[in-house]
Amino acid sequence: MPNIVLDAGHGGNDSGATGNGLIEKNLTLDLVLKVEQHLKTKQSVIVHLTRNTDEFVSLNKRSQIANKLNSNLFVSLHHNAGGGTGFESYIYPGLKNTITGQIQQEMHKDIINFLKLQGMTDRGQREANFAVLRQTKMPAILLENLFLDSKKDASLLKKPTFIEELSQTMANSIASIATNL
Ligand SMILES: [Zn+2]
Repeated sequence: MPNIVLDAGHGGNDSGATGNGLIEKNLTLDLVLKVEQHLKTKQSVIVHLTRNTDEFVSLNKRSQIANKLNSNLFVSLHHNAGGGTGFESYIYPGLKNTITGQIQQEMHKDIINFLKLQGMTDRGQREANFAVLRQTKMPAILLENLFLDSKKDASLLKKPTFIEELSQTMANSIASIATNL
């Protein structure tokens, strides 16, 4: 069975972004735990987490965890801030035409199809030299799930039903991708 590492961004003294009463490290953990739960019921992948509590884990450590496990896929969950709205995904630069690019295309499409129904904007499939994307040896993707400092985005992120459906969408997407890993 493919093994997947789910990475809840930030944690401990690193809160990540904040806005509208929301704190990124708490949202990423909540989302990761829900995606893990959904994936466990499918029994088609083995799921590992880089953290399952509110603790600080360095970027190096997150990559090391996945590398030591010889993981097949690394998925890092974040929430954005800085004056925008909507969803964007990231892979390491130059990997568009590799399996990593294919995974980005599929996962981005699955998630944005759901988010568009909620009135959210597609900010695109992007590339960035983020540590967890650079240091992990397996296909790795980082998802920026809406903006905490946007009133519109934050109101969705505060809805338990939205988080539940988003986590289900992510789990379905990962399970589908995992069949080709
Ligand atoms: Zn973040």
